[in-house]
Amino acid sequence: MSLLLKGATIVTMNDRKEVLSDHDLLLEDGRIVGLAPTGSIPKGGSTEEWSCNGKIIIPGLVSAHSHLSGIFQRSLWDETSFESWSAKTFAMDRLANLSPEEIYLLHCAAGIELIRHGVTTVLDMFSAYPSDALDKVDAASKALLDTGMRAIMGYSFRDQSPDNKDVTVEATSAEDVILTARAAAERVTNLSSRLGFMLAPSAPQRCSDKLLGLCGKLAQELGVGIHTHLAETKTHAAIGRAIYGEPIVKHLERIGFLNSGLSVAHSIWLDDEEIGLLRKYDVKVVHNPASNMRLGSGAARVKEMIRSGLRVGLGTDSANAGTVYSIFEQMKLAVLMPRCVWPPENWVLPGEAFEMATLGGARALLLDQVIGSIEEGKQADLVILKPSLSLSPMSNLVNQLVFAENGDSVEAVFVDGKPLMLQRRIQMVDEEDIPGQASSLKARIREAQAAVLARPS
Ligand SMILES: [Zn+2]
Repeated sequence: MSLLLKGATIVTMNDRKEVLSDHDLLLEDGRIVGLAPTGSIPKGGSTEEWSCNGKIIIPGLVSAHSHLSGIFQRSLWDETSFESWSAKTFAMDRLANLSPEEIYLLHCAAGIELIRHGVTTVLDMFSAYPSDALDKVDAASKALLDTGMRAIMGYSFRDQSPDNKDVTVEATSAEDVILTARAAAERVTNLSSRLGFMLAPSAPQRCSDKLLGLCGKLAQELGVGIHTHLAETKTHAAIGRAIYGEPIVKHLERIGFLNSGLSVAHSIWLDDEEIGLLRKYDVKVVHNPASNMRLGSGAARVKEMIRSGLRVGLGTDSANAGTVYSIFEQMKLAVLMPRCVWPPENWVLPGEAFEMATLGGARALLLDQVIGSIEEGKQADLVILKPSLSLSPMSNLVNQLVFAENGDSVEAVFVDGKPLMLQRRIQMVDEEDIPGQASSLKARIREAQAAVLARPS
């Protein structure tokens, strides 16, 4: 099947970062096979043709760090520190003990929110207690596939919890933890070319060195990447230093954990040497400005990272930690926040934020050969934006997409050339049905919330 999108303005994110007006885009068997000035691509007999006059096509946006189950705790906790937020969040997780069916629904709901905001690829950092993790991995994976998105299941684990007393560590040994992670990988692998897998140790200080070592070996054996939280708060950095007797990243280098298949979320409380080490090993950073600001975690030194040559993507984090599953919002905050705290040389520019939202996220997920730009040979993961006030007058398109757009102009979303949303209607799952199915959760959320609040502090 092939589709010719005619007469659009196309933000390519190719090497020259070209924005091409009056261009046609030919999609065939899920890929981009033609990109040329309007009228110059010959139309085959079976090619469907859509006029995109006045419309803008951008690469599908990428959230390289999200927790989709977190949507059920959206706006529940407004704490004054990450630590207090995290204690309540995990206590709530334990009390609510979501069923696989509920996890499926929550993932569908979060997926719809991502698609509505033009996000085509998401890394879902997913954790569950090992005893019933696999059924829940199945449920989350099924939801991600059913929405039509491209996704990475980032299976998360730990074997210690020095920074949160509310996390019960169930497994008896690092070997047990890795066995479950291997089983999770086996469940996910080969389900679909749209669904990948990464090992996701919760954070270095929440894993013994033995577990990190086993994780590194398994990643190598399976040929998958590793994703983790890194130095999200000042306390995390201090705990790391206390455990290791040196900064966390230095320790990770010492145990051989740094490589180009590793991506690290947040990465706020790092010293210059640690940033240099991440660069040296081509570790990718995932910046989560809404979450960092919402939880008061701190200001990541993103511009300095970019200047040093580090590759940076963006993440929504959990809706509970941040705000909404929107990468437009992350782009905007990534650009605005530094203007309040750093001198102009450390301001992130709109073009840099747009790269983080597309190619940067693709690099963090090891998918930059497949997605992240609109170029012949890449998969057809695209967003079509309709003409709207936020994009008019179209003076500086990338600046407007970053400063003025909130996702309302997103009209159609494609993954592998298949529409996930058309005319703002979600195509693959029944959007209207989900709130009704999830309504039984409401009473349990209220009960669990009351129980968390009643705990002795
Ligand atoms: Zn996170």
